[in-house]
Amino acid sequence: MPQNRPVLVLGCGVSGLSSSILLLQAGHAVTIWARELPPHTTSNQAAALWFPYLAHPMERVGPWASRTLAYFKQHLLPDPASGCRPTRVQDLYAHPVETPWWAGAVAAYRRLAADELPAGYVDGFETESVVIDTSVYMDYLVAWFRRLGGEIVQREVTGIEEATAECKWVVNCTGLGSRQLFGDESLHPVRGQTVKVRLNGVEHSILDDEGPNGLGYIIPRSADIVLGGTAQAADWDTNVRSADQAEILRKAANLHPAFGEVQVLAAGVGLRPVRHEVRLEAERIGDALVVHNYGHGGAGFTLSWGCAEETRMKVEG
Ligand SMILES: Cc1cc2nc3c(=O)[nH]c(=O)nc-3n(C[C@H](O)[C@H](O)[C@H](O)COP(=O)(O)OP(=O)(O)OC[C@H]3O[C@@H](n4cnc5c(N)ncnc54)[C@H](O)[C@@H]3O)c2cc1C
Repeated sequence: MPQNRPVLVLGCGVSGLSSSILLLQAGHAVTIWARELPPHTTSNQAAALWFPYLAHPMERVGPWASRTLAYFKQHLLPDPASGCRPTRVQDLYAHPVETPWWAGAVAAYRRLAADELPAGYVDGFETESVVIDTSVYMDYLVAWFRRLGGEIVQREVTGIEEATAECKWVVNCTGLGSRQLFGDESLHPVRGQTVKVRLNGVEHSILDDEGPNGLGYIIPRSADIVLGGTAQAADWDTNVRSADQAEILRKAANLHPAFGEVQVLAAGVGLRPVRHEVRLEAERIGDALVVHNYGHGGAGFTLSWGCAEETRMKVEG
């Protein structure tokens, strides 16, 4: 196996950090260049749950998501300092639904009984997943990367030749930044606003993607509960909007009575990097190999380790 390759990774979100860690573990020398570092990345704005959402195509997303879940179970859940822990997730629907295509990837999956459904819902399922507290996990990844000998440089790249002039192996994990860097207009933002509230005893996650409170979600973490959300396509506004916040609080109260009254701690906005399909492929640019790993939509954490493994393999080509 080729070892000790110098690799330049662009981007310090979950995709860049996960790819870099696996490259370092395989013996390569990795430097990250990134315009924003944690806690100022889109990745920091996610809650996040392992849950395939707004990412395509299904035939590649499925194996990446399964690999990632297995990786979380084997390497992250055993260490409480990672900010990752198992969680029960209830997904609610106002119409009968088929078993989700990814149900086989999770250990426990069951359909909810009628008396377990809140008013307004006729179907739903419960599954065992992983909650990834990004306020802990992103710093954990940075510390892990540095411990393995990686270097981080805060630097914006305005043209890919800046990177290929520096290094013959480049990994592109710039998320939404790839729209400008590579002129990729198939990549667009889907705006997500969230509200963080004080813990109130609710310990499981609740989602309504498309029903009367869609897109509403409740995701308890170690020190707060993240309430969502919005999915506003082609909306570049990263300011918190009071109308969105009021809607988010209304939806949470409908999803669970414990959210009738909440103590708001903070609010945030992130732009999901959505594409018709995740771009994970190698491209020759001059005499350099550029491996793209971006466009994970609402599932960047859910796909992170599976995509990082494939990225490493493409670098080693
Ligand atoms: C509200 C919300 C909730 C979410 N919930 C979930 C969830 O529950 N589960 C889940 O799996 N996913 C979730 N997501 C999606 C997830 O956050 C994204 O898919 C993921 O963060 C994408 O990670 P990334 O590393 O590819 O990009 P980013 O985190 O955006 O990182 C991109 C990096 O590239 C850098 N960069 C960009 N352009 C340049 C440039 N020109 N030069 C140098 N550096 C550059 C940036 O500064 C940054 O460091 C959610 C997203 C939002 C907004």
